Amino acid sequence: MKENALKLKNLLTTPKKIVITTHRGPDGDAMGSSLGLMHLLKQFRHNVHVITPNSYADFLHWMPGNEDVIVFEDNEEEANQITENADLIFLLDFSHISRIADFADTVSNSNATKILIDHHQDPDKEIADIIFSDTTACSTAKLLYEVIDAMDLTNHINKEIAECLYVGIMTDTGSFKYASTTAKTHHIVAELIAAGAENTKIHDLIYDNSSANRMKLLGYCLNKKLLLYQENNSAVISLTAEELEQFNFKKGDTEGVVNYALAIKGIVFAVFIAEKDGMVKLSLRSKGNFKVNEIANKYFSGGGHMNASGGISEVSVNDTIKIVEKIIIDNKIELNNQNN
Ligand code: 5GP
Ligand code: MN
Repeated sequence: MKENALKLKNLLTTPKKIVITTHRGPDGDAMGSSLGLMHLLKQFRHNVHVITPNSYADFLHWMPGNEDVIVFEDNEEEANQITENADLIFLLDFSHISRIADFADTVSNSNATKILIDHHQDPDKEIADIIFSDTTACSTAKLLYEVIDAMDLTNHINKEIAECLYVGIMTDTGSFKYASTTAKTHHIVAELIAAGAENTKIHDLIYDNSSANRMKLLGYCLNKKLLLYQENNSAVISLTAEELEQFNFKKGDTEGVVNYALAIKGIVFAVFIAEKDGMVKLSLRSKGNFKVNEIANKYFSGGGHMNASGGISEVSVNDTIKIVEKIIIDNKIELNNQNN
């Protein structure tokens, strides 16, 4: 860490043209880390652009710096031009280049020095010149704080940076409740609050700021769409494009739905399936040692963390449910051994 941090600090001694990018379907950690780093780097007179592969949930749009984010899918030419001219490219919150989708070619072909800061499994060693990878870190935002600390720059963390990093840590830890949350996480969060992060306001803006349609969609999922496989401690919720349309779906509206399935007593494996943007996307969650990243990788060209992963399916929502049902049967012994 220290050695890489010094290398990075050296790279940053003169003003650079910098691009920060993050994974497709950016979540709170992706955006919090990217914008937090942007605000830090701007203090040192670098020219900094955050470029996301595609757009993200409305509940993240209040974050400081959001108005400067370039969405590759909507502004390909501008994004490509900026990236081709960049001196440094930061890759945040992903470990394989495929996670930035159609933006991958431009980033891979760029001669810029690349820096990865990430907490996902098995980072691709070829992806970057300097790699900060900690798969035990609860979030990229927490790891980024540690990188800033290792560069002796925590005194530059102002309210804007603190709020961005707070969002990353809060959302990736399920509000500080997942097993990845450590004493160190809380120490860092305490520093962020001390630096000006308004924790109650942030929680409210992210979690208690939904449209009525979003709440109704959640009700529909739980009341009408919950499939329970109680004998194998599993639950599935699915939504077709038509159903999403009925509730005037907006990006981010289904985030967290899978956690309600996992909140049912005895359930250790929960799957949420939704047809979005012409794709069938899966969110997989588990409790205990049931490794959903292995399932995501084996069946759904995806990955993630042991207890929270995602992927895509090549078949319809209904056929995807059938695949998941087979996975549940095939793993019944393990699913029944989770002591839940
Ligand atoms: P979510 O279910 O919230 O979309 O994703 C949960 C986690 O799974 C993410 O933090 C990310 O680590 C991982 N993930 C989601 N979708 C994909 C995907 O398509 N490919 C890979 N490799 N990981 C994914
Ligand atoms: Mn993350």
